[in-house]
Amino acid sequence: MACYKHSDREGVAQCNDCGRFLCAECADSFTTPLCVGCATERAAAIKGELIKNIAISVVLMIIGIVVIKSPLGILLAGIPYGWAILNRMTPSMFLWMSWVGWLIYFFIKLLLAYVIGLIALPIKLIKWIVELVSINRTLEGMGVK
Ligand SMILES: [Zn+2]
Ligand SMILES: [Zn+2]
Repeated sequence: MACYKHSDREGVAQCNDCGRFLCAECADSFTTPLCVGCATERAAAIKGELIKNIAISVVLMIIGIVVIKSPLGILLAGIPYGWAILNRMTPSMFLWMSWVGWLIYFFIKLLLAYVIGLIALPIKLIKWIVELVSINRTLEGMGVK
């Protein structure tokens, strides 16, 4: 089978998503063997995901500002992210606790989530924006906006 783009070249690989044949040059265009159409689709999907993540964190910041009626409410936006990180490492030893223990545990966890979120959210935001910029550049390189 010939390459989907270069009919004079032998297809040496297949697009991971749609199975079209790719020549050596086309197979090397992206980190995984993909045709331009599927690579664009994947990039667009990642872009959508990044925009969603950024939008959610902005909404959380606005909620924080509204809840404590101060611009400092921005600092609360990291709590859900800190909480999610803590959930990944909460030890099961806490399971035997009474409700008082749970209450204390809850507040300690909330406090920790706040502290972790303070650091985690800006890092995540910067990462998302950097990825978004590089994806936009990739999409522009493919001739898609
Ligand atoms: Zn494809
Ligand atoms: Zn080709």
